[in-house]
Amino acid sequence: MRTLIKGGTVLSPTGGVLADVLVQDEQVAAVTAPGVFDTADTVLDATGKYVLPGGIDAHTHMEMPFGGTFSADTFETGTTAAAWGGTTTIIDFAVQAKGTSLVSTLDKWHEKADGNCAVDYGFHMIVSDVNDATLKEMETCIDSGVTSFKMFMAYPGVFYSTDGEILRAMQKARETGSTIMMHAENGIAIDELVAQALASGKGEPVQHGLTRPSALEGEATSRAITLAQVTGAPLYIVHLSAAEALSAVAEARDSGQHVFAETCPQYLYLSIDDLAKPGFEGAKYVASPPLREKRHQADLWRGLRTNDLSVVSTDHCPFCFKDQKELGRGDFSKIPNGMPGVEHRMDLLHQGVVAGEISLGRWVEACSTTPARMFGLYPRKGVIAPGSDADIVIYDPAARQTLSAETHHMNVDYSAYEGFEITGKVETVLSRGKVVVSPSGFSGGTGHGRFLSREKCQYLN
Ligand SMILES: [Zn+2]
Repeated sequence: MRTLIKGGTVLSPTGGVLADVLVQDEQVAAVTAPGVFDTADTVLDATGKYVLPGGIDAHTHMEMPFGGTFSADTFETGTTAAAWGGTTTIIDFAVQAKGTSLVSTLDKWHEKADGNCAVDYGFHMIVSDVNDATLKEMETCIDSGVTSFKMFMAYPGVFYSTDGEILRAMQKARETGSTIMMHAENGIAIDELVAQALASGKGEPVQHGLTRPSALEGEATSRAITLAQVTGAPLYIVHLSAAEALSAVAEARDSGQHVFAETCPQYLYLSIDDLAKPGFEGAKYVASPPLREKRHQADLWRGLRTNDLSVVSTDHCPFCFKDQKELGRGDFSKIPNGMPGVEHRMDLLHQGVVAGEISLGRWVEACSTTPARMFGLYPRKGVIAPGSDADIVIYDPAARQTLSAETHHMNVDYSAYEGFEITGKVETVLSRGKVVVSPSGFSGGTGHGRFLSREKCQYLN
């Protein structure tokens, strides 16, 4: 089975070239000058369009347990929405509950995901119970293709790890060449601020932002970097939202430390003003770290240009406004933390290209190529080259669309980007050579997606 994508501009981190792409079964067979091949079983005309490697969203939470409920997208609905938005790989988080083992956790997440995904998927492991057995099991995870471990400096009593526990896990990461991912917010201080706000009768959603000041993200990021320096572990800061945290990352990188960071579209486009919307509306925007004051956004775009922010992921973790966000009416601390976004990352970051904030090459790099290399998937993913999986997006840069809950495919009853006008639109998506999205609709299937056993971070040497 051969598919020819002809006439398009093939994108990579170095920009675009006019080229044709020949796909044989599940892989790219050739990238040629235009017109070298002219027949195949299927010919897709990409004239005037971009042809880019499928997006890789390295931070999603499908059907994740949180505060007595589960995030609203299943692996099936979430990966289908991802495909619609040009994302052909997700890396989701298996969540260790306290008192359970990493291996049984991984088994549980395979049960949820295997056979249910529309695109390929891998796992990171959330470590919330550091002890001798857990540390030993990190090795088993790595052998099973899970080479990155997320820890939390926030959420005391739930996912929180002490500095000592983080240090021990980082030593293990150093020893095994695996990566520690960090949710860097000072949760101990935040919990005091939350208690004080509630005690003085302040329960509305904006308090979620006011009780998690950006300085406490900066402080925790610096502390994580110091612990990584002491132990020699590679460190990846997840969902960086604050200028103070970015400064700490930039300084560490300038000194040669293996420190990396991602940001998310919500921090580039939304702000605490959204959290402060009247009534309970702000609950739609409750995620941690919280949406920041607008002044942070210019710094984050700069960080994307300078590579101090090297990846854009979504932290997709949707909760329905009606039934789930409702749990925190009157008490913002009970609003499930998370926002939907897996479907819109490629489009939203393309607006950065349209606005001149980032180049075309940088768009592809931050959304596909770098996450592939960061999490051990390159060159199978993240590039259009002979031998790579044929995960390919044909993108119409001139199309116009308006984002809305009415038309999105995520299993959630609101859009954080309702009414956003977007220039550009995904036209066709191939996942391992199969057309899963086209102008005539979704033609993929549940169970098409395969588990990706990942290698270690490919930036360490
Ligand atoms: Zn997350």
